[in-house]
Amino acid sequence: MTTVFGSGAESFEVTLVSTTAFILRVDPISEKDLAAALLTKEQGVVRVAVKGARGRSKRAAALQLLTEVDVTYFLREGRELARLDALEIESSSFDLATRAETAMLLPYLAESVLTFVPEAEPGNDVYRLVRHVLDALAAGVPAALAARYFEVWLLRFCGLLPEDSLCAVCGEELGESVRLDAEIPGFVMASCAGRRGIPVPNGARRLLRAMRHQPLTKLDVRAPAGDLAALEDLSREVRRRFLGHELKSYRFLSALG
Ligand SMILES: [Zn+2]
Repeated sequence: MTTVFGSGAESFEVTLVSTTAFILRVDPISEKDLAAALLTKEQGVVRVAVKGARGRSKRAAALQLLTEVDVTYFLREGRELARLDALEIESSSFDLATRAETAMLLPYLAESVLTFVPEAEPGNDVYRLVRHVLDALAAGVPAALAARYFEVWLLRFCGLLPEDSLCAVCGEELGESVRLDAEIPGFVMASCAGRRGIPVPNGARRLLRAMRHQPLTKLDVRAPAGDLAALEDLSREVRRRFLGHELKSYRFLSALG
């Protein structure tokens, strides 16, 4: 619902938006007020000012990292911060935040989304991915497997981990020896890659294939630790080359089992 206020050059549009969203980040902006970054279902990442939410308020309780909320806010044309109108918890992340195995994963998921989803662009795929990963974690899927699945799909949505069965240079089926050329970006057979690219171990490729075709809850949770580590190395390398730096929350992930 959009309303125009004022007239002529002085006019501005205010849009009232009701949607569901994940809390990605919360920062104080004054003694009593907070700014929250949200991943919304329809409008990608949106930043909203939340008045009077610091301390033990009901709103503060809803502003937990990766808690899913029903939210209504006013978006004013030209303003960076939307103004919160209503906020209700749809699905709390409290249990995941208090479990040692998953607590460190939440900041990493949130920072990854904030980094890779451009503001004000629809993030539907990423929204579904976050919900899927949180549900799988709640169902007992190991945190390390969930982290790898999330990374792979987030990088795929950004076009950084494309087709992994055919060579991106010659189009032939990829054989045993494969490299990832981050410049294309694409998977290429060793004979087409020359010395370029990152070697992709077969264990990492097996997991990539499985993750393309199966939901997290159907993956083999006994995937060899070596395969998971190889896939983590690959995703980390792709992410670092793209961003030029590492995510702050990544170093805490080593605490994962
Ligand atoms: Zn080739």
